[in-house]
Amino acid sequence: MADQQAAATGRIVIDKCAIATVDAQDTEYASGHVVINGNRIESVGPGDAPEGLRDVTRRVDGTGHLLTPGLVNTHHHFYQWLTRGLATDSPLFDWLVALYPTWARVDEEMVYAAARGSLGMMARGGVTTAMDHHYVFPRGAGDLLGAEIRAAGELGVRFTAARGSMDRGTSDGGLPPDFAVETLEGALAETEKAIDAHHDASFGSMLHVAVAPCSPFSVSTELMRQGAELARRKGVRLHTHGSETAEEEKFCHELFGMGPTDYFESVGWLGEDVWMAHCVHMTDADIEAFGRTGTGAAHCPSSNARLAAGTARVPDMLAAGIPVGLGVDGTASNESGELHTELRNALLINRLGAHKENALSTREALRLGTLGGARVLGRAQETGSLEAGKLADVVLWKLDGIGHSTIADPVAALVLGAAAPVTLSLVNGVPVVEDGRLTRADEDDIARGARDEARRLAKIAAGAG
Ligand SMILES: [Zn+2]
Repeated sequence: MADQQAAATGRIVIDKCAIATVDAQDTEYASGHVVINGNRIESVGPGDAPEGLRDVTRRVDGTGHLLTPGLVNTHHHFYQWLTRGLATDSPLFDWLVALYPTWARVDEEMVYAAARGSLGMMARGGVTTAMDHHYVFPRGAGDLLGAEIRAAGELGVRFTAARGSMDRGTSDGGLPPDFAVETLEGALAETEKAIDAHHDASFGSMLHVAVAPCSPFSVSTELMRQGAELARRKGVRLHTHGSETAEEEKFCHELFGMGPTDYFESVGWLGEDVWMAHCVHMTDADIEAFGRTGTGAAHCPSSNARLAAGTARVPDMLAAGIPVGLGVDGTASNESGELHTELRNALLINRLGAHKENALSTREALRLGTLGGARVLGRAQETGSLEAGKLADVVLWKLDGIGHSTIADPVAALVLGAAAPVTLSLVNGVPVVEDGRLTRADEDDIARGARDEARRLAKIAAGAG
């Protein structure tokens, strides 16, 4: 692929920094080193890097910094970068109904600009593995998934493209307008085409594709069922929204005679190859079912708060053995678009729940944003912790500046402090951020391009109204 990231060669040594490895023992070093060879981590340990290393192409003095695994985002809708700050006081269903008509006018140029904005914002905050759940495919809009894939390739971020779909319009009792949905056959055929064209299952792959019908209230039962069959036939993962709001629960009971989790189980949608966004309204039995089947969850604390959806029971999910990662969610419901600040929001919001101060520790919050996310995306063997043999997806956070220099513990500084600046972020051993700026794209250009496309979308939507 033309946009594929340049391969890293030689060794990079980073030392004199605090290190949080997020390995099984939560190993940390007050001052340690990491050696990167090509696209892999070669060694991690205390003190300075060993003497006599050959073929060292770069040495980084990490004094005043914390080194962690790159962050992994597990839920997003890039196109929403163009519709931020709208319906700011509405709950989910009202918010969706207000925005669907505008979203149904997106085209390839818009999605490309929005993907660059979304990915750029996350990358400069330490995200090395991103995902997107795109489910709006207006007729004649161009190659929308291809536009996102192109943007991720250009910025150098590891990517899971979740090919979404909706086929339950208002005339079938669904929430989206009929003009915004695809047919069952069309959605399945296009999803299969996307897998065949783009999915790369190899170790260190820069691009996965997942099958991702949007939600119970916008997708037919047949699309859920056949989507699961397609994913299993192709060996790719399954993603959707689940148990986000009380209204969704009511909708499921009225339409299917059961709650969302029972419905998912009835259509083959619980399993180790499935992850769900939100999982807010979960009963004890739902959590038990997720734990028993290894179904993953993408916890999106800011979006859940913004839409007044409620608080997911993350401590209970973790106790049940459920893989849990963090998600930005679409930026129409989380305008900041950052993942590193979700570490803090996850910790704070969960402490307002039943488990109080024991809900999540700073280390557990960091784990959700790194290894937890990698598990959810099926990539825990490759990324999510700093261990020899894993991919060189690492972030060096600057903690000696005004915002953090007096916070005693570096992990607490990262999780509880202000959004920490990124001095260096590597994906596959290749820099994607240096000194807080994207290395492979011009941020001002991204900002201008996204603003222009947002205005064009608003104009088209106003005209269509
Ligand atoms: Zn979402």
